[in-house]
Amino acid sequence: MKKKQAYRHATGVMYYDMETAMPKGGAEDFAKTMGVLSEEIYKMETSEELKALVAELYEHKDELDEITRREVEEHQESIARIACIPMEEYVDYESTVSMASSVWQKAKQENDYKLFEPYLKKLIDYNRKFALYYAPEKDPYDTLLDQYEKGMNREMLDRFFDEIAKAFRPLVEKTAAKRDEIDDSFLFKNYPIDLQDKLSREVMQLMGIDGNYCTLGEVEHPFTDNYSKHDVRITTHYHEDMLASSFYSVVHEGGHALYELNTGDELIGSPLASGASMGMHESQSRLFENIIGRSYAFVKAIYPKILALFPEQLKGITDVDFYRAVNKSVPSLIRTEADELTYCFHVMIRYELEKQLIGGTLSTEELPEKWKELYEKYLGIRPETDTEGCLQDSHWAGGSFGYFPSYAIGSAYGAQIMESMKKDVDVDACVAKGDLSPVNAWITEKIWKYGMLKKPAELIRNACGAAFDPKYYVDYMTKKYNQLYKL
Ligand code: ZN
Repeated sequence: MKKKQAYRHATGVMYYDMETAMPKGGAEDFAKTMGVLSEEIYKMETSEELKALVAELYEHKDELDEITRREVEEHQESIARIACIPMEEYVDYESTVSMASSVWQKAKQENDYKLFEPYLKKLIDYNRKFALYYAPEKDPYDTLLDQYEKGMNREMLDRFFDEIAKAFRPLVEKTAAKRDEIDDSFLFKNYPIDLQDKLSREVMQLMGIDGNYCTLGEVEHPFTDNYSKHDVRITTHYHEDMLASSFYSVVHEGGHALYELNTGDELIGSPLASGASMGMHESQSRLFENIIGRSYAFVKAIYPKILALFPEQLKGITDVDFYRAVNKSVPSLIRTEADELTYCFHVMIRYELEKQLIGGTLSTEELPEKWKELYEKYLGIRPETDTEGCLQDSHWAGGSFGYFPSYAIGSAYGAQIMESMKKDVDVDACVAKGDLSPVNAWITEKIWKYGMLKKPAELIRNACGAAFDPKYYVDYMTKKYNQLYKL
């Protein structure tokens, strides 16, 4: 286990370095190194010795303590997922992923989809093939979805998205008709990056993120990485002409960081010392970014600091103006910049496309056009370029198919968790005072400290006293946008 952790640590830091420091020209060497390391990881994961040990423990799992039992289950699954793949294919896949990120970045910068397309095709083919190796009788996209969120499948998501779309579509239409009522133009003035960086530090402090164990880096596409609860790294991207972009990106990644930083000490060194699933992880980041971060209480707490940093840009703007501006809803092309209301449609579009790409009913040649079509269908706008279209996100270049729905499921988890937290904690009152510690303490107790010890469904039950129900998300959004736009 220590050796596995060490490899994970080493390759993780190398990926972080690739994103933050590596010169573009280093991409091919990086891919070669990752190929060699992935071969070592493959050999270790699939060694007869490890397989036999895990199999024996698995047979006696009812006799094990809770932590060891869950570790054995996780090992069993990770071995099963990897051992069904021939080594050459595994190594080739890992090298392809390492290379694809750099190619995708270039393709996005130059709006050149053709450059990225062969990589995308290869990654899709591999993902489909690997899913079928693992579960030959199951639909490959269902297998991929299940990897990010246990139990998530097309049937469940089709129902979920149907319900959400039905509730949100009228809200999108009504708010679009009243879009001029909210002025957000001041968010797009000139905001020097060094001052935005100061603001990032302020907001991290407000959230209760310990700088001893969490750093902030700058990248093209923000993400969070962690190697243990003692080394968590969040990232952001500053735009000089967009204040809210990096600000909310830091709050989002900060939510991921809090989860990792607050896993239980009893899990240190264990593979269970990490978020329970991608859906649970996104529930925490989106809870902080939107439900807390875009609440009036949070804006009230942080606005004096923002105003002190940017007195000229925000002259005459009150905290209420700021709160309304960061919640303005307008259909737009870029998922990561989308408002809370239209966001779900960006996820739905990607879900539709992934289903078809993995299912083999949509080719990579047809993807750019299909993307544009779906944006017109769902949001009434059409991207002019692929940079603003199918090249905008990094997930597919990283080999992640089936990840996007986690954002929507996570948003819905978050709404239900908040509803439950409010029964025990006066969230608005402590957030408005700038003291998030009661919030963090509540979530630590209900969710964070368990890491992967409990599964998502169990965590929701633990935090909310009931099973997952998307109605909390629908109610929360309906109430919020009715109030904001006086619908
Ligand atoms: Zn996230």
